[in-house]
Amino acid sequence: MSTDSPIEIVDLRKEYGSFTAVNGLNLSIKKNSFTGLLGPNGAGKSTTLKILTHLIKATSGEAYLNGVDVTKDPKAALTNVGTVIETPEFYPYLTPRETMRYVGELIGMNKESIKTETEEILEKVKMTDWGDKRLGTFSKGMRQRIALGQALMNDPNIIILDEPTSGLDPRGMAEIREVLKNLRNDSNDLTIVMSSHILTEVQDLCDRIAMINHGTLLMDDDISAFVTSHGVKSVIAKTTEIPTAELIDRIGQLDYVRSAERLGNDVQIFIGDSNEERNRLFNDLAQMNAGIYSLAETDKLEETYLDLIKESA
Ligand code: ATP
Repeated sequence: MSTDSPIEIVDLRKEYGSFTAVNGLNLSIKKNSFTGLLGPNGAGKSTTLKILTHLIKATSGEAYLNGVDVTKDPKAALTNVGTVIETPEFYPYLTPRETMRYVGELIGMNKESIKTETEEILEKVKMTDWGDKRLGTFSKGMRQRIALGQALMNDPNIIILDEPTSGLDPRGMAEIREVLKNLRNDSNDLTIVMSSHILTEVQDLCDRIAMINHGTLLMDDDISAFVTSHGVKSVIAKTTEIPTAELIDRIGQLDYVRSAERLGNDVQIFIGDSNEERNRLFNDLAQMNAGIYSLAETDKLEETYLDLIKESA
């Protein structure tokens, strides 16, 4: 098994009775990448991550962590892996320091390492000042930071996160994202995979994106390569009145415009991905006197995501 892919999923299937949640999934996660496993609700993300972390068993297929198949030898496979699957329950009467000690002892760390790592980790998840307060009094966002913290015990080289910001308020989400960004920037040997159904979150945090739906892989690419490889950008023009067919026709006839179509009360215009074409479009639309009061470029990644999801429906 190649060490370039600390996580390797091969022909993975999970059936719940007659329902197939994961349908022959193949996915290779690159070493030191931060991969967003993106898909709509019910796509099979959690099921996949639960198989990877040995919370449930696959119906068939293989799932390697650091070269060891978790379906065959879960203990060895999970040795260097930190996980946060759903919001873990903690003992409410324990403090973060006590919780870390408990987790450290469970995974066989010695007392000295537990002490040192606990302080380092509390710093990383910005919970040092709360280290001796009982978890029962914490907000969900604070508990989630402790969940991340316990996943970091013993310096894993793989971290698996299932929707880590799910159910948090905007501030809680921002705090978790900041911790994840710092974690990534401060580590030389850390591969992170995180599921999410929020495209902007994946764009913000991850450098790779793997889209899944109905338990199969739709695409897997570098985010930056993906964003620049599609060559066409779409601009949404908002008009003061419902756009007429004549207006859409006139826009469509501009020589550099690939196509123009009505999108609700707006006009969606596809042009090439260059500043020159965008500037020409802005000028031409202004001269048309067509009551266009706003122009916004839409995110190609979002369009492609929605297209892929639609196609696979
Ligand atoms: P979400 O963001 O909603 O959690 P997901 O991509 O993580 O979506 P999964 O939780 O993996 O999706 O679920 C995939 C499909 O499998 C869903 O249709 C779900 O209803 C179904 N499913 C999950 N767990 C079970 C179960 N224990 N029994 C039966 N069906 C299940």
